[in-house]
Amino acid sequence: MTDKNGIYLSVDGDDAVRVIVGNGTKIQTDRIKVSDELIGELEYDMSNYEIVLEHIIEETEPLDDIGAYSEEQFTAVSDTALELADGVRENDLTTGVLLRATIHKLLDFEDDGTAMCLMTMMNAIVEALREPLDTRYILYKYLKSRSEFDTHEEWLRTNILPEGYFFRRDYPCEIINYDLFTNEPKLSQVFFFDNYTDYFVFLFLKFAEQQRRVLECPCCGKLFVPKSNRAEIYCDRVLVDGKTCKQIAPKLARKLKQRNDPLFEEYEKAKNRNYKRVERYENANGNSSVMRLTFNEYKAWLDKANEIKRLYLQGLVTAKELRNIIEELN
Ligand SMILES: [Zn+2]
Repeated sequence: MTDKNGIYLSVDGDDAVRVIVGNGTKIQTDRIKVSDELIGELEYDMSNYEIVLEHIIEETEPLDDIGAYSEEQFTAVSDTALELADGVRENDLTTGVLLRATIHKLLDFEDDGTAMCLMTMMNAIVEALREPLDTRYILYKYLKSRSEFDTHEEWLRTNILPEGYFFRRDYPCEIINYDLFTNEPKLSQVFFFDNYTDYFVFLFLKFAEQQRRVLECPCCGKLFVPKSNRAEIYCDRVLVDGKTCKQIAPKLARKLKQRNDPLFEEYEKAKNRNYKRVERYENANGNSSVMRLTFNEYKAWLDKANEIKRLYLQGLVTAKELRNIIEELN
């Protein structure tokens, strides 16, 4: 195993072990669950990241009408990009390491100092930074759609296989002479990643192999993978005061039924309406006639809206506050 910047990964069913190389250090992390890593990644709020990225894109504009670029401008863009990657790393180690590895690889390219080269490099950096945003939406879309199908096969056939091109990537692997899980001598396979999309799409494929279900928790609105085949409705996330959705939700659901409040119906409608807007925007490929609502803006809204809905059910916020959040993106 060489020490390139990135993530070395060994997988066994839903278990995985990683060696993370970055910023001059090499760490072997605890065992992770493929399903947790995948679903957990979609939980991070990247709306701030999106704002910084827009700022970086502005910085890549040419300095005059004939398309001049300066070395200083290029340095500022690449420095901000690396800072952004390190900022992400504080909360989301995986994404931070992968972003930095990708940017480093781009910067290793021979820079001949011409305007053309500077422009190409800056565009490549912007593309690399944009990737997590696009990929998160696509993975969310696939995982969320699983609950629309009764069987794994039906889901694969209808939603996943027709999009095969998205999964056709290089997943470089090497054979090493010890087991990453046990450290015992053994010939074992290790995959290497220095790109966000490759890593998470690989995890998605490993997850799909397990043929498990994905549900949307009606209490917190987040995706989860049921632990067993029992009829699980709610997730195990700790929602408030150390209590999980599973513990709190039945009581809240009873209240919801008793109150028969039209606001809840409006809330559900807003959720669907806004998600449809995301689909239109994300599929429009920058077509400016489509109203903007990015996946990350939607996710940030959804998490906040769910929280307010719960507080309203518990009598802790007013109807006006719930209405405000329902209408916030209109
Ligand atoms: Zn939940």
